Amino acid sequence: MKEQIIIRAISQSTGEIYKIQVTRSDGVLSIRCGCPAGIHKMLCKHRIKLIKKDISLFLAEDHSAIQEFYMWDEFKNIEEVFNQYNSSIVAFETEIKKIQKEIKIFKNNMGEILNDGIKYT
Ligand SMILES: [Zn+2]
Repeated sequence: MKEQIIIRAISQSTGEIYKIQVTRSDGVLSIRCGCPAGIHKMLCKHRIKLIKKDISLFLAEDHSAIQEFYMWDEFKNIEEVFNQYNSSIVAFETEIKKIQKEIKIFKNNMGEILNDGIKYT
């Protein structure tokens, strides 16, 4: 059995409407978005917000369909997988910030060293 829900998102920058296609078929749940990023299978903000239950971007007429979607067992599964990936992403981003701070310190030190001069040995 195949079920499909179409959820419409409003683009914050252009006001354009993007369709998010939620499909479940034999226990497989897919979420596809028609926005420019989604077309390229990138993790767009519409899919992130939908899974994180932030429904502010979606048309009010679609809110009851969204609530129905949240009741699906398949949603609970995808939410769990998403949260696992997301915690890795957050950990990597934290690491990147730390490294960027280190790079800045090294650049500042090098700048100061060049200003002060390096004694030839
Ligand atoms: Zn999207």
